Amino acid sequence: MFDATIAGSLPRPDWLAEPEKLKGGWKLQGAELREGQNRAAREWIKHQEDAGINTVTDGEVYRTHFVHTFLEGIEGIDQNVKTLMGIRDNRYNLEVPTVTGKLTRPKPIHLEDVKYIRSITKHPIKFTLPGPMTICDTIADAHYGNRADMAMAFAEILNEEAKELVAAGVDIIQFDEPAFNAFTDDVVAWGCDTLDRAIEGLGVKTAVHVCYGYGIQENIDWKNTLGDEWLQYDAIFPAMNKSNIDQVSLECASSHVPISLIKHLKDKELMIGCVAVTPDKVETQEEIVATIKEAMKYADKERILPCSNCGMTPISYDIALAKVNALGAGAELARKTL
Ligand code: ZN
Repeated sequence: MFDATIAGSLPRPDWLAEPEKLKGGWKLQGAELREGQNRAAREWIKHQEDAGINTVTDGEVYRTHFVHTFLEGIEGIDQNVKTLMGIRDNRYNLEVPTVTGKLTRPKPIHLEDVKYIRSITKHPIKFTLPGPMTICDTIADAHYGNRADMAMAFAEILNEEAKELVAAGVDIIQFDEPAFNAFTDDVVAWGCDTLDRAIEGLGVKTAVHVCYGYGIQENIDWKNTLGDEWLQYDAIFPAMNKSNIDQVSLECASSHVPISLIKHLKDKELMIGCVAVTPDKVETQEEIVATIKEAMKYADKERILPCSNCGMTPISYDIALAKVNALGAGAELARKTL
């Protein structure tokens, strides 16, 4: 009960990549880079095991960006054709690569990463992949003509990748869909269908991480416009509850998202965010137990998985490690007291 896990990324150590940056460049190259990534994954898995985290992750230390690293392995995208695009419903503008032809995946993208992490831990492993809608909100389209069709093409590719990762020993596949709260109508119209396509026939547990994003300035400015109660999930959770996904995340620590919204997810396991991705404060065990207790007002405790709110790439290694330790200890205290 109260099996703890991490929502997504963990900071890459400063000997491996520029620290506290979302797309900090690598400091190593070639075989040394691969060895360094393996070492960083090994250290984070050990930290999670020591902290009492049940389902461990590689911390996404093999990637510079959760979407673009995946896209670098996909054909049909011209990385040199840059299009200026409003991201997350025009929350900010970025120059992004452009889809110029039919999308294909010539070879696996994360298989070597998974084979390595499977070889070093007996814990259940979760591996995260970008979700179809979020990919389509991070890349421009000059081929498919509409987002729903392009998202379905990505869903098919993600499904092929996920099947190979499962065959290599992954226990939970998670899709990251931070775009879900920017396009709530599209989530209902086609977003959940593309997720269901991405998880088709996997034969393991599946999860989706939705969130209000990292603590970067553009997101902070946007969050300041949302008022005291953030209700975007009210529009999408009923549709997500009907999807075939097993687990859904919710950021509950230091959040304006009402925890009561999990009442819409009565058929799902819930990754309850108990540590925020803020850089300056580490939650206490008691605060984590209080968040779990609050969730228990709306969901059976058997469905509650204590988790981090979001990815921790942009915060310092030491703070992230303290939060991982707090999360494991808080889950343990919850097991004893709730
Ligand atoms: Zn997130």
